Amino acid sequence: MKLLTALREELETPRAERPLGSGWLSGAGGLLAALVSLAAVTCMQWPSLLTTPEVRAIASAPWFRILLHVVLILAYVFAFTSIVLRENKLLGFTALTIAMIAALMGGPQSTESIHVETPAYFGLDFFVLNILFTGFLFIPLERIAPHVREQTVFRPEWREDIFYYLVSSLFVQVLAFLTLAPSKIVVAATHFEQFRQWIGGQNVVLQVAEIMILTDFLQYWVHRLFHRIPFLWGFHAVHHSAKSMDWIAGARMHFIEIVALRSITALPMFSMGYSLQAIQAYLLIVYVYSTFIHANLRWNFDAIGPFVVTPRFHHWHHGIDKEAIDVNFAIHFPLYDRLFGTFHLPKSEWPSGYGVPEKVPNGYVAQFMYPFRRGRTA
Ligand SMILES: [Zn+2]
Ligand SMILES: [Zn+2]
Repeated sequence: MKLLTALREELETPRAERPLGSGWLSGAGGLLAALVSLAAVTCMQWPSLLTTPEVRAIASAPWFRILLHVVLILAYVFAFTSIVLRENKLLGFTALTIAMIAALMGGPQSTESIHVETPAYFGLDFFVLNILFTGFLFIPLERIAPHVREQTVFRPEWREDIFYYLVSSLFVQVLAFLTLAPSKIVVAATHFEQFRQWIGGQNVVLQVAEIMILTDFLQYWVHRLFHRIPFLWGFHAVHHSAKSMDWIAGARMHFIEIVALRSITALPMFSMGYSLQAIQAYLLIVYVYSTFIHANLRWNFDAIGPFVVTPRFHHWHHGIDKEAIDVNFAIHFPLYDRLFGTFHLPKSEWPSGYGVPEKVPNGYVAQFMYPFRRGRTA
């Protein structure tokens, strides 16, 4: 435990105290590469339990083994660089140890066992890909144009938000099942085959635009209800309890809220006959987009801000200021907020801080229980 605390303190070193050449970046990079290798090898050891069929298909390709080799070598190189450069050897030696464990567990050879069929799984592979893809996209952006300049990746409560990422990735199968359930009922109970065929036959770009308009309309009202009804607010307060806004902050959402929000907003998408191609495109867009609007980015986007949701628009939704209460519910089109009287976007201004007035506890489990305990004490 002591070791973990020391490691966390090393990672949370303020930017001013870790200039280039201090061995911090190589240490953190080495740790990341080592953890990715370890996760990949662990997935190969228990592919039926830990991997999703989609990723398994990728992992059985020959280049994947080479890639894993490269990542493992990078982990060693970075770890050694950090050990040489940095006075505190903790990051370097931790990365080195983890990389060695990954190599001992089979290293790139372990990809041979990947071909399996499985009825149920945890998406550990999905988590790794998720966090890498989004991190590589947003960490440089947040470095180039940060709104809160001194904020680093390892800001307060970063572990909680990464854990939210982990949980929703691990339970990707459960989430998909629960999200689809209401749509399946609707499809089974209705018989608009011709209508569905017509919808799915439209141009894909048009289909994606329609999905965005329809889901955001539903999202707007479900979101507003989560703010309005005290019991529901207990769930949603968890999302609003983030005091720092960045690419991982949006992941903080109560499991039950994710299920409720997704299953309702996905209804038109899955029941009206939209093509798989359009649905997949939308899911990718909404994933990157919702990360984007939480990101720590200083761009004002004054010209397009009134028409499409920008980081500043959603940051106001998370604002701690009085004027930021119950505004900006849309996640794609601010038009809904303008129509229904909840639009708030003063030119080039940002909220003074983020969070909620009430004390939401720290940690995943306490936050999971929060909506149920909150009602009793209030
Ligand atoms: Zn909200
Ligand atoms: Zn948000």
